[in-house]
Amino acid sequence: MRLTLIIVLLLMHLSPAASAQKCNDKRLALTFDDAPTIDTGIFTGEQRTQRIISALQQAGVRQAGFFAVSERLDEAGDRRLSAYAAAGHVIANHTHSHINLHRVSTQAFLQDVKKAHRALSKYPTFMPLFRFPYLNEGISAQQRDQIRIGLNNLGYRQGYVTIDNFDFYLDRLLREATAAGLGIDHSKLSQLYAEVIVGAAEHYHNMACRWLDRTPAHVLLLHENDIAALYLNSLVTALKASGWSIIPVTDAYQDPIAKFMPDTLLLGQGRVAALAHLAGAAAESLRHQGENTDYLQQRFASIITESDTPH
Ligand SMILES: [Zn+2]
Repeated sequence: MRLTLIIVLLLMHLSPAASAQKCNDKRLALTFDDAPTIDTGIFTGEQRTQRIISALQQAGVRQAGFFAVSERLDEAGDRRLSAYAAAGHVIANHTHSHINLHRVSTQAFLQDVKKAHRALSKYPTFMPLFRFPYLNEGISAQQRDQIRIGLNNLGYRQGYVTIDNFDFYLDRLLREATAAGLGIDHSKLSQLYAEVIVGAAEHYHNMACRWLDRTPAHVLLLHENDIAALYLNSLVTALKASGWSIIPVTDAYQDPIAKFMPDTLLLGQGRVAALAHLAGAAAESLRHQGENTDYLQQRFASIITESDTPH
């Protein structure tokens, strides 16, 4: 048995009774990548930020995580990150230029992380947590390990996710439909967004129960995008209706899985998928239907009501 697998099992093992109980405890933290995002045909960046802050406040979410990209920190961007911090949300590092580790050297990548650190560490709620753009942690085991050491030397912990999903793709469909002047049934789109994200949460929760014998404190990946700005309240309501409680992001990263660096290159779906894969789950079994662009396109087509554009 590989050493990594033994460590996973030792770390994760609980008795069946404890496992059953541990699988009833569904907790997750909300995290948003890519702030400050650009103006779109739906919201300006500042409108988007204000809507997200007020939705989090209304939903009683005390501390979400914002993994920011410092390249976009102009005056308005700075105001937006300051507003998240003032509302009690954590600001963390998502590189300076949203750099893809599959396309650059280890050294160039770490320079970009340092540049972001210099820009982001001034915010009062900044925490040295790092999230990889595209969840790309390296093209080889050697690069992955060099980056892990580099981040550690910079004083960073990994801001991993456990619940992956394609919220960015639904947001893209929404922006494209809006730009094309198509009519959108907002009530149905709100339900679709909540259904897809709650479905993802359940999927990774069940995966953890099956392969890790417990469900960890989860970290939900979202983006600072228009679809979140429109429907975050419905999403939180749907999560709560499915038995989830929303926890502060710092609590989520206290989970034992935060200390374990999975020895696999299957890292692009987050930490639970990586650990499940190490415990024996086949890679192709790890995706859920909401992580499929054809499926989302089909579902999205059903919420288009009419076209305002001349034929
Ligand atoms: Zn990103």
